[in-house]
Amino acid sequence: MLMFNLLNRLKPCYLCGEFNIHNTQSLCMACWQQLKIKPRYIQKQEVSVLIAASYQFPLNRVIQKFKYNQELQYIDIFKQICSEINLSQDFQAIVPMPISTSRLHQRGYNQAHLIAKHLSQKYNIPLWTPIKRKHEHSQKGLSRVERLTHIEDQFEIAPSSPLRYRKVLIVDDVITTGSSIFALKNKLHTLGCNHVEAFCIAAA
Ligand SMILES: [Zn+2]
Repeated sequence: MLMFNLLNRLKPCYLCGEFNIHNTQSLCMACWQQLKIKPRYIQKQEVSVLIAASYQFPLNRVIQKFKYNQELQYIDIFKQICSEINLSQDFQAIVPMPISTSRLHQRGYNQAHLIAKHLSQKYNIPLWTPIKRKHEHSQKGLSRVERLTHIEDQFEIAPSSPLRYRKVLIVDDVITTGSSIFALKNKLHTLGCNHVEAFCIAAA
C-alpha cells in the first residue's frame, strides 16, 4: 500500500520522461541542471531586466513549446524557475507583456500573462493590464530607430484603466532586443509609472 501511494505521487520528468523517486517537481535533477538557471540583472534599452537563464537548449525548446504548441503543463517548469528568483516585494503591480487580440485568438492564451499571474499570486502583487497591443508585425530588416518607433505604435492605453501604480514590473518569457519592453515602459511612463523594471525567463 505504501509503495502504491508512493508510485501514485511520482510524476515523470516533463523533459526526459524518467520517473525519479526524488522528483517532486516537474523536472528530474539532471534535466533541471541542464536549464542552467542563474538569475542575474542585465541592462537592455535602459531597462533593468532580471533574467533567470540564457535562451539556450533545452530551455528554448521548453519556451517554444509552451508558447506555440499548447504545452501548458510547462507552466510548472516556469513556476519552478520563478522560485529561484528573488523579487523585490515593493513592486505595486505586475504587468504582463501584452499580445495582440489576433495573436491571442490564434494561440488561445498569452504565455507572458500566465507567468505574470503566477508571480502575482506568489508575491501577492496585483496583476495590471493597462496597455493593449494593437498588432504585431515582423521587425526583421528594420534599424534600431525604425524598430522602436514601429513597436511604440503597437501599444495603446486601454480605455478604462483608473488604477495608477508607480513602481511596476513587466513580465515576459524571452527578451531579445528589448524593444518591446522599452516601448511598453514608455507607455507606462505616460500613466505615471516612474519606476519600471522587467523580469524575463530567458535572454536571447
Ligand atoms: Zn529529466
